[in-house]
Amino acid sequence: MSDPRNSDLDAGQEAVESLLDHEELLKRSLVRISIAADGLDPLLDQRLRELRGSLRADAPPHLLADLMPELERAVLKADADRQERLVRIAHHLQALAQNLQSHHPTGIANRALRQLQKQLEAPLVYANQIPALLEELSVVQQLIFDTPSGPESRGLLARLFKRGDAQVPAPMASHMAIGDPQTKDEIQEDTVPPRLDSASSPVGGEAQQYSQVAGHIETILLNLLSELQVLDDQRSRCERLREQVSRGLNWYELAAVLDELMLLVLNAQQKRQHDFERYLKQLNQRLAQFQGNLEAAHDACLGSFESGKQLEVAIRSQVAGLHDDVRDATELDALKANVDAKLDALLQDVDHARSSREQQEEETSSRMRSMIERIQVMEVEAQTFRKHLDEQRQRAMLDNLTGMANRAGLQKRMEEEFDRWRRYGGDLLLAVLDVDHFKSINDRFGHLAGDKVLRLIAQQLSGRLRKTDFIGRFGGEEFVLLMPGTTVQQGALVLDELRRGIEQCPFHFKAERVTITISMGFTQFRPDDTLEETFERADQAMYQAKQAGRNRIVRAA
Ligand code: GH3
Ligand code: MG
Ligand code: MG
Repeated sequence: MSDPRNSDLDAGQEAVESLLDHEELLKRSLVRISIAADGLDPLLDQRLRELRGSLRADAPPHLLADLMPELERAVLKADADRQERLVRIAHHLQALAQNLQSHHPTGIANRALRQLQKQLEAPLVYANQIPALLEELSVVQQLIFDTPSGPESRGLLARLFKRGDAQVPAPMASHMAIGDPQTKDEIQEDTVPPRLDSASSPVGGEAQQYSQVAGHIETILLNLLSELQVLDDQRSRCERLREQVSRGLNWYELAAVLDELMLLVLNAQQKRQHDFERYLKQLNQRLAQFQGNLEAAHDACLGSFESGKQLEVAIRSQVAGLHDDVRDATELDALKANVDAKLDALLQDVDHARSSREQQEEETSSRMRSMIERIQVMEVEAQTFRKHLDEQRQRAMLDNLTGMANRAGLQKRMEEEFDRWRRYGGDLLLAVLDVDHFKSINDRFGHLAGDKVLRLIAQQLSGRLRKTDFIGRFGGEEFVLLMPGTTVQQGALVLDELRRGIEQCPFHFKAERVTITISMGFTQFRPDDTLEETFERADQAMYQAKQAGRNRIVRAA
């Protein structure tokens, strides 16, 4: 039997050992944890080092207890510092994002930046969130600097026009206000596939910018197409493109339309160049033939000269022989026979020479005849070609839609009139005419109706002008009028007549009577004016007429 006191002792012994084990475990854990917390704060580090020192040195419990309050203070302070640091870091990250925003990112970059900014608005709780945020920031930054942005290159259209305000770069830009995009979308809803809006498009910014300038781009394309001199076999292609543009384009159709337009232009140019090259080749062949004939004729001339010389030599030698015979003759009969024989030979030589000369002459003249015929053919061809070229040149100066002079024709005539005016002086007026609210005609009744209106207006205007006046389509719904030998007072009367004529013109669409009006600005050419200055003045005056309520005439101040 065992002693019960012994077993109590054993149990006590075991309890003490287990307590010591626990203490050892606790100390080891404390040392490990204190190492993990290292590096957060210098003061805390110091306290933790002291703690570790005491633990390792098996310091008595009261020493450890003394260390604790200081350690606690250091921990609290380190925690407060950490919070403050996180707030500061969050603040810096927000500032960085704000900085990126000032680059006006578009599209995907813009969306990524906004998402990041939203994330940054939430308070930072853990330091380990920072690397992910920094990574995100770097990605966004990359996106922004990789995709063109900023005022110089805000999207395709901004880049096209080099201006962010969707204005028009042409000289007429001053009054070509671009329509309200919203109105355009609303109006075109029933006739045109709806344009993409910024919310539904992955490149919403571009689409929105496009819709702001769509009308203007369409006008430019329509102008280009109407000026394009396509060949007959390309005409239907050109017409299809024109209809497509007239119906209105989505931004994503634009590239394809531009490609097609480029192909049409290239085709027209290549075909024309090919024709011209073929003609030049033909001409070259003809000239080679012609040269061959000339050489042959020259040879023939030389030949007849040669044969003449041969005849002369032959005659001389026969005559010399006769001389000898006469001098040496002793008998009359023998002399007679000799002379007869020599005269016969002489006659034969002469005959022979004549027939060979006749043959050569015949050959030469037949060559000459064929040469003359060929030259006549060439002349006719050259004339046809010249006529063709003239027609082409004329056609290139005419507007397909209205049949009046186009921009090129107008420019040429303006320069001619300007030169004449500078040389001879006198009165010369220039007026700029613009149809009022023409966009709404297109929007309400369609582009084809708009085209018809332009044709009718052109007819009306041309019909009411004097022979010496000149009118051309400057582009779109704008016309330019030149009036030589006209005073300002006379000009104002003529223009007002034109204005009233258009106003009173009965336009009907779907049985609806529509009044169409035009605004005009005009000016006189003044000493020292350049053509551009005069035009600009008239254009400004037209713009004033618009601002003053349209359907009126303003004379440039
Ligand atoms: P405002 O009174 O200020 O001149 O207004 P507007 O609507 O006439 O002027 P805006 O410049 O805003 O619009 C001109 C319109 O003319 C836009 C374009 O679609 C249209 N247009 C230009 N050329 C043609 C064309 O050849 N055919 C048709 N149907 N429309 C054209
Ligand atoms: Mg206009
Ligand atoms: Mg107009």
